[in-house]
Amino acid sequence: MQDQNLPLAEMFRRLIRNTGPISVTQFMGESNARYYAAKDPLGGAGDFITAPEISQMFGELIGLWLADMWISAGREDPVYYVELGPGRGTLAKDALRAARKYGFEPRVHFVETSPALKDVQLKSLPGAIWHDDLSTIPQDGPIMLVGNEFLDALPIRQLVRGEDGWRERMVGLDDDRFVFVAGGQNMDPAVPVDWRDAPEGTILETCPAAAAIMYEVAGRLNDQGGAALFIDYGYDAVKGGSTLQAIQNHQKVDPFANPGGADLTAHVDFSTLARIAQSRDVRHIGTVTQGEWLSALGIASRAENLAKRAPHYGAEIAAARDRLIAPDQMGTLFKVMGLASDNWPGGVGFPAG
Ligand code: SAH
Repeated sequence: MQDQNLPLAEMFRRLIRNTGPISVTQFMGESNARYYAAKDPLGGAGDFITAPEISQMFGELIGLWLADMWISAGREDPVYYVELGPGRGTLAKDALRAARKYGFEPRVHFVETSPALKDVQLKSLPGAIWHDDLSTIPQDGPIMLVGNEFLDALPIRQLVRGEDGWRERMVGLDDDRFVFVAGGQNMDPAVPVDWRDAPEGTILETCPAAAAIMYEVAGRLNDQGGAALFIDYGYDAVKGGSTLQAIQNHQKVDPFANPGGADLTAHVDFSTLARIAQSRDVRHIGTVTQGEWLSALGIASRAENLAKRAPHYGAEIAAARDRLIAPDQMGTLFKVMGLASDNWPGGVGFPAG
C-alpha cells in the first residue's frame, strides 16, 4: 500500500477487488497516514483549527499546569516535556514560554510521524528531539506529557450487530463506490457482555491504538513519575454509534469521498482510557470539560491581562476565550483528562486536585 503516486482511493479499490473488504481500522489508519504525511492541515489554507491555534492562552495555561505539578512534586531534574502529535508546535512553544517563568525548563521530546509537520515543528522548537513512537523517549526522569487532538486521529475499530451476532464493520465496494459491509467472522467475544444482545445495526467503536498508547504512557508514568494531559473531543461512558467523521477545508465531508485528502477522526472514549491507566497504578485525577478546566486555571483573568496589554485586540481575545470555553463552542464537547503517577500530587482544575 505504499505507492504514493496512486490516489489512495484507487489503491483501496484495487485492494478490495483483489482481496475483499478492508476493515474500517485499515481504511482510517492508511487514510490518515497519507493525509498527515504530506501536508500541514493547520496552516493558513488548512482544513481545521485546534485550540492552540485559536489562542496562546491555551498553551500557556497548560504550561502553568505542568510547572505547578512539577514544582509540587519536588522539581526533579532531568524532566521531559513529551508531546504526542504536536501539530505546528504552537502548544509546546506557548506552554514552555509560560512555564519557564516558574523555573520549569524541561527537555523537549516530540512524537510525530508526519515529515511535513516535523518541518514546521523544527522552526517553532529547534531544540526538540523527535521520535516515531514512545519507545525511544528517555527513561531517567519524570515525563510531563501532553496530547491535544492526537487520540482522535488514531484508527478506530467498529463492530456492528448483525442478524446473528456481532461482525467487524468493513469497507467494501458497490461498483466503484465505497460502502460499509459486515465482515464474515463472528465477533461476539470482543463485545462487552451487556452489549451482546443489542438491536441489529448497533455499532460499537473501540480504538486499539489509543488503548496501546495509554498503556505505554501509564507504564512510563508509573516507572519514571510525571503527569499527562489528554485533550480531545470525546465521551465518558461506552456508548453505541459511529463517530467517524471527515473534515476538509473546515467542512464535514463524507469519510469515503477523499481518503488521504481529508482528516478522519473519531470521538475518544475517555472512560476506557482512564481504566487502562488505572490498571497500571496510575492515578486518573479526572476528566472534565475543557470549559471547566480552562476556567479553573484562570483563563478569564489571563484574557483580561492580555487585553490590557493589547487593547486593540480586546475583542479578538475575548472571542478566542469564548471559543475555547463556551458550552456551544469547544467548552463542553472537548474534555481534558489528567493522569499522574501515584506518588505525585493532584492537579489544579480536576476533582482530585
Ligand atoms: N496537537 C496539535 C495537532 C493536532 S493534529 C494541535 O493541537 O494543533 C494531529 C497530530 O497528530 C498531527 O501532528 C499528526 O501528524 C499527529 N499524528 C497523527 N497520527 C499519528 C501517529 N500515529 N503517531 C504520531 N503522530 C500522529
